[in-house]
Amino acid sequence: MRLSGITPSGHAQLGNYLGAIRRWAADGGERDLYFISDLHAMTTAHNPARLRSLAEETLAALIASGIPAERVFVQSDLTAELGALTWVLECTCTYGEAARMIQFKEKAGGQAGVRLSLLTYPVLMAADILLQGASEVPVGEDQNQHVELARALARRFNSTYGEVFTVPRAVLPLAGARVRDLADPARKMSKSTKDSAGVVFLLDEPELIRRKIRRAVTDSHSIPGYQPDERPGIANLLEILAACTGRAPGDLAGEYPTYGALKEATAEAVVETLRPVRERTTELLTDPAELARIRKEGAARAAERGEHRLSSALRLIGAG
Ligand code: ATP
Ligand code: MG
Repeated sequence: MRLSGITPSGHAQLGNYLGAIRRWAADGGERDLYFISDLHAMTTAHNPARLRSLAEETLAALIASGIPAERVFVQSDLTAELGALTWVLECTCTYGEAARMIQFKEKAGGQAGVRLSLLTYPVLMAADILLQGASEVPVGEDQNQHVELARALARRFNSTYGEVFTVPRAVLPLAGARVRDLADPARKMSKSTKDSAGVVFLLDEPELIRRKIRRAVTDSHSIPGYQPDERPGIANLLEILAACTGRAPGDLAGEYPTYGALKEATAEAVVETLRPVRERTTELLTDPAELARIRKEGAARAAERGEHRLSSALRLIGAG
């Protein structure tokens, strides 16, 4: 079983949908687990009300995209279980191991004023994985070291106190096009980017999507051609159009005589791809009772899935 998370660090965007959410719904919906990692969004300065609303919105977007409700949960709904398991794993992890994490070193920059949770969150991440008994964790390069830590802690706990945890391994996420920022094709589209001019959000109105795509940065040529390295802006539009239509970007290039025509077609394809997701997400968000019911059920299932591991781990390590 695979476990994937999405941190509600901003509104979900087109790249999240085409590169992850849509594929989660198609490939692993029946088998795998997905969670909204809202606790991970508290390791740097955050706004509580905004975080709460982004977590709800992201949950609604995953359900609206077709991931079965019973495969999704919100991390903070398991705060008690994860808090307890994090403590057990912190007592299994050394300070040196945590301090070695490259991401911590990069983000902390040697400053004492960073939150302690920035240092310890890879242990919480290990708890996320080990509580659910996930055997595979699809992660990018930047999270690989954290999954290695989870792996080391599972092994160490099992051999020191007794077999409790499935030893997880990192697997490469599904390969696919990386959607680039429309205003700056040198960087990828991201939900936490401050300037959102080049970011299409799942909940953007069609007119706003059209405007953002019309203003996408291209180059000084005028006829579309697919050259990702030399012409990243146009290649990005072709890749987005390809991802929305199931065609190949290279084939699409020859079908549009002008940049304007390509932008027009891309905008319409994106609007139509996102329309059902936006409509269902909005509908769910206007029905807080239904969303709360889904959320509660997901949390109950996730807690139940991990209950025996948590209680065995506590017993074996000498608690209670
Ligand atoms: P942040 O700015 O907080 O890092 P993000 O938009 O990069 O946000 P992540 O939470 O890092 O999103 O990633 C969630 C999932 O979306 C991951 O599976 C990641 O590979 C995928 N993803 C993120 N951005 C893109 C993109 N531009 N194109 C394709 N896939 C993407
Ligand atoms: Mg990211």
